[in-house]
Amino acid sequence: MTAPRALPAYRRILLKISGEALMGPQQFGLHPPTVERIATEVRGLHGLGVEVCMVIGGGNIFRGLQGSAQGMERTTADYMGMLATVMNALAMQSALEAQGVYTRVVSAIPMDQVCEPYIRRRAVRHLEKGRVVIFAAGTGNPYFTTDTAATLRASEMACEAIFKGTQVDGVYDSDPKKNPDARRFDRVSYDTVLQKHLKVMDASAIALARDNRLPIIVFSLDEPNGLAGVVEGRGRFTVVEPG
Ligand code: UDP
Repeated sequence: MTAPRALPAYRRILLKISGEALMGPQQFGLHPPTVERIATEVRGLHGLGVEVCMVIGGGNIFRGLQGSAQGMERTTADYMGMLATVMNALAMQSALEAQGVYTRVVSAIPMDQVCEPYIRRRAVRHLEKGRVVIFAAGTGNPYFTTDTAATLRASEMACEAIFKGTQVDGVYDSDPKKNPDARRFDRVSYDTVLQKHLKVMDASAIALARDNRLPIIVFSLDEPNGLAGVVEGRGRFTVVEPG
């Protein structure tokens, strides 16, 4: 007789991935097989009974800072970045629904013909009904990033943690791709992340997570079945938490 499967430690989480995670081997844009692979990871987690929120960045298509560096007015460039996140959210919705996972894309900037506007109570209801909710258009405000949007939505949705998928298996004291002696943290405090400028999320996102005591779990998106494993407490990851 097999032992009953342990219940996942989390009831509701927010998964943050950067737009670049959807590029796969390309230098720009969307790589459908990669989007499909990440959707499979999300389906695995959803299948455990965890309620899943998602925020996807837009850096694979457009970043406001890049636009303003090229002479574009900053707020306009930021709105273009927010629109890029809507495209990524729709691509993820399509990939998830192709795998039988019901989803809703909700946007901080209303665009009724494309997706729902963000209404907090309605988004909570979608989660309760077992739909994956993909939050698009960041916070809806220029001068912010999707890391801050992820922390804000996770707080509003009463998520128990943010899972930040990256290309490495946690937070290191220097770039492990450049420095073979880089040291990985199992646990690290918000204050250490801020003081040492560790690459987790931007400072406003970390400060918001700290103020709301929202743990951030940094893990590798490249590990097959990594997401479900990490949510069940297996594998390698770093937890950013109060000191
Ligand atoms: N953005 C914004 N406000 C937000 C979220 C995003 O203005 O609340 C813009 C900003 O220009 C940013 C772009 O959208 O550069 C794409 O988001 P981000 O850089 O966070 O994407 P990621 O790096 O996660 O792919």
